This record gives sequence, C-alpha cells and structure tokens, in this order.
Amino acid sequence: MLMPAELQNLAVKTRRLTPDLAMGWKIGAFIRDFYGDLSDIRLAARESGDAVIALASMLEDRLFGGKITTINKDRPWDFLSYQHSTGVTISFHLLPELSRLPRQMRDIESDLVGMDPFTRVAYNRSVQMLTKEVAANPLESFCRIVQSCYHPLDQAEGDSLILCQCCNRPAKKGDLWFDGEIICCTACSGLEPSWFEWQ
Ligand SMILES: [Zn+2]
Repeated sequence: MLMPAELQNLAVKTRRLTPDLAMGWKIGAFIRDFYGDLSDIRLAARESGDAVIALASMLEDRLFGGKITTINKDRPWDFLSYQHSTGVTISFHLLPELSRLPRQMRDIESDLVGMDPFTRVAYNRSVQMLTKEVAANPLESFCRIVQSCYHPLDQAEGDSLILCQCCNRPAKKGDLWFDGEIICCTACSGLEPSWFEWQ
C-alpha cells in the first residue's frame, strides 16, 4: 500500500515514519476537516511524541505558532482540540490495544540496539505494519472521538463567586463554563487553563 502523499511529505520533513506520526497526521487531518477555519484552534496532547511533531508541523504555522500544549500529565483524553469562537471541543481517546505496537515489541523497544538482527527486523516490520494500518483506516478504528461545546459564562453580572455544579467549589465568573446543561469550572470542564491566558 502506498502512503498518502501528505503523510509521506511529513515523514520526509520530520525524518521519521512511525505509527505515532501517522496517528498525529490522522488527527490533524480530522481537525482540519472538522473545523475548517483553524485560526482560533487550540490543541492539547497528553504526551509528547511523534504525533505532536506531526500535529505541530501540520497546524502550528496556521495557528500563529505555539498553540499546541503538551501536558505530560494524566488527562481523560489523549488529544483535545478547542475552538474559541464556537466553544466546540473534540477529545480523542486512543484505544491502546489497537493504536500501539504489540506488547512484546514495546518491551524490546528500549534495548533495540543490543538486539540480534532478526529481532530488529521483526520490530521494524511491526512498526511498518501498524503505521500502514493507521494511515489506511478511519481514525475511528483507533480512537473514540467525543465532541462537546463549552461557552464561557461571561454574561454573569457582578464579581460574586458562583459554585461549580460539578465540584461545588466557588469560582469567578470568568473561570466558569456552560456546556448547555451544567455550569462548571475550568478544571471540571477539562479545558486547558493555559488556553485562556491569551484572551
Ligand atoms: Zn469544578
């Protein structure tokens, strides 16, 4: 199977072609198709890696640079996008058993240099196979995609504190969000606080 031209170009540009890079390309393409206009999109990734490199390469220039946040902490998603003008978020939850190399290949990953040639060939074949699978199949085959919509609660009057309906803690109106059903604080919404420092 031939790799899609855009992924091939990304591989040349970043000098790597891994399942993670293919996943980042897939997610980047999904976000680009979904939102259309990327001028006010923010993106967060739970971990750094080839997927983030692919996303940065695909989107960062059009996001005026530096709008991709790598969390390196636990989050309920693997990738999260947010459009400020509409409040629409998309969270991507990777299915580990389908989006990662088989366990025996992951176990030898860090010691690959010292491995015998046959093991290295088997590892490389496994990487190539998963990369092709990610590139060829719909993103939904490898991750759960959840869409939500959050609007800032900036219509509230006065400086009084309002209780978050999730954690019950008081918060300033500027730190509260409404998803159509409940009012919640930034922490409970899952939105990244750093996205709103530029407002
Ligand atoms: Zn809360």
